[in-house]
Amino acid sequence: MNNMKCINIKQFKGKVKPDAESVTFTDDTGKQNTIEFCYQKTGFGKKRFLMCPYCSKRVEILYRSESGYKCRDCLGIKPYKGIKNMTKGGADEIAYRMKQYAYKHDIAFEFPFDYTVFGNDERSRKQSFRDKLIVLQGLENMRFQAIMGKTIYSSKVISSVCRGKHPLLKAVSLYDLKNWIYNWNTGKEIILYHPRQIIK
Ligand SMILES: [Zn+2]
Repeated sequence: MNNMKCINIKQFKGKVKPDAESVTFTDDTGKQNTIEFCYQKTGFGKKRFLMCPYCSKRVEILYRSESGYKCRDCLGIKPYKGIKNMTKGGADEIAYRMKQYAYKHDIAFEFPFDYTVFGNDERSRKQSFRDKLIVLQGLENMRFQAIMGKTIYSSKVISSVCRGKHPLLKAVSLYDLKNWIYNWNTGKEIILYHPRQIIK
């Protein structure tokens, strides 16, 4: 498949297996691209979408840019402009780990990750699914600090969170992970100025 300035999910119909996880193609610059698919269950089976490599959103069209295929939103805002110079243990790596984790567990989200979006997702009734939301909310907590404070995490800390083994994931609630900031090295809450307390 060649010469694609944008790709549309419809063009893969009948060309890839119904349950294909991804498609690899060469564009007209000779560059090979792999785009992951994601699936949404429907009353009649499942509907296939393209997954934006930048934000993991389910979309029908991806547009080619100098830094790869992106959804329309990512094309406009370029949230990961510096991804080529990804800092190990920094915000980009955490974002990347979140996308991978979410994809593996069939969780579609937009940054910043917010567990409350899944309130109506029937999978939320299961603890095993809530455990996955906890991992993602924990990673979002880390990502926020990496963006705001340039915090860098060791691969040991990141991997313990990704495996759901970090002690903080068991010690605090989803609400806490979303609203407060924790030191992932010590497990302690970082006390900051909380605007909401002033407003009350
Ligand atoms: Zn996107």
